[in-house]
Amino acid sequence: MGDRWQVVVDRSVCIGSGMCVAASPDGFRLDSARQSHPVAPETDAAEGVLAAAEGCPVEAITLTVVGSGEAVFPPEE
Ligand code: SF4
Repeated sequence: MGDRWQVVVDRSVCIGSGMCVAASPDGFRLDSARQSHPVAPETDAAEGVLAAAEGCPVEAITLTVVGSGEAVFPPEE
């Protein structure tokens, strides 16, 4: 890996399950309204962050490579 990822949570979609926080405690936090947000808008590429995106039941989490904008999750069709 070695990339930096931009992390975006679509709060209009997030249902506050907290699964992303469980998968990546350093990457995500739930706010007082039980909406997830990334701890930082950019992060080092990491398995836990990818697992959080893959595990979100409503696919609210989008990951893209900083610089190139290449899709990490969801993957390009
Ligand atoms: S896993 Fe998805 S729905 Fe659940 S809190 Fe995280 S972003 Fe929201």
